[in-house]
Amino acid sequence: MAYGDRVLQQGVRGDDVAELQLRLAGFRGTLLDGDFGPGTALQVKAFQRDVMRLSQPSGVVDRATFQAIDAFADRFPIDFRQLRCPCGVCDGFGQGRFKGLYMPGGKGLEQFHRYEYPGVHRLILWAARALFAYREDVKFLFSSGYRCAVENERKGRTTTNHHGKAVDIDTVLPPGMGKREDMERCNAIRGLLVEKANAQIGWLARNRKSLEPADIAPTWVHYDVREYEPAYLRDEFFCRDLAGLNRRLPIGV
Ligand SMILES: [Zn+2]
Ligand SMILES: [Zn+2]
Repeated sequence: MAYGDRVLQQGVRGDDVAELQLRLAGFRGTLLDGDFGPGTALQVKAFQRDVMRLSQPSGVVDRATFQAIDAFADRFPIDFRQLRCPCGVCDGFGQGRFKGLYMPGGKGLEQFHRYEYPGVHRLILWAARALFAYREDVKFLFSSGYRCAVENERKGRTTTNHHGKAVDIDTVLPPGMGKREDMERCNAIRGLLVEKANAQIGWLARNRKSLEPADIAPTWVHYDVREYEPAYLRDEFFCRDLAGLNRRLPIGV
């Protein structure tokens, strides 16, 4: 069933549910399993309460809720120029190399997977939109998006997280704001993402969005999907432009 073609509510299963779960990843968050259970209902209720401003959220995705999700996407378009790899060698999102190859000593661990994924994961960008909605008082930008193997080698980086699984979110500082306040603001944003998006600081749990701790990312917020299982890191989850991010093609579940 194509996303948007039927009302979605608890008990329903399908590719359209997976698409819904992805779009609402920044509201609590759940598995993209296509199974509309109590966790998905809580996601929908959070969106209805916090974005649609409904005092009695139903947890049912009706026409008004579909339209509100579209409006939410339109209100927070993602600027893909900020996400492109700066190396000048790849076309902005790597060259698709190194699938199934790992850094020395890290065989089989996603953390060390060298694959240059074909874009940025849609889930993390939809989740970023939720952050933008919760903090409309802050002006955000992506200070780093895709960094391919060429770029990493040039900078001597050993982490492959930014091969499409991570974004660094920065805030534009108001005049007079110093580094200390910037650090406090980034801490507050991480706290908000833990509370509202069920993100974790660090990478302990599987299938949860991860944040780098403050000692690694003092004045920015690094947000990633590194700990998702391979089923949720298939090529079809990655996008290279706004149309790809907002597309309604079914996700196989
Ligand atoms: Zn590159
Ligand atoms: Zn980062």
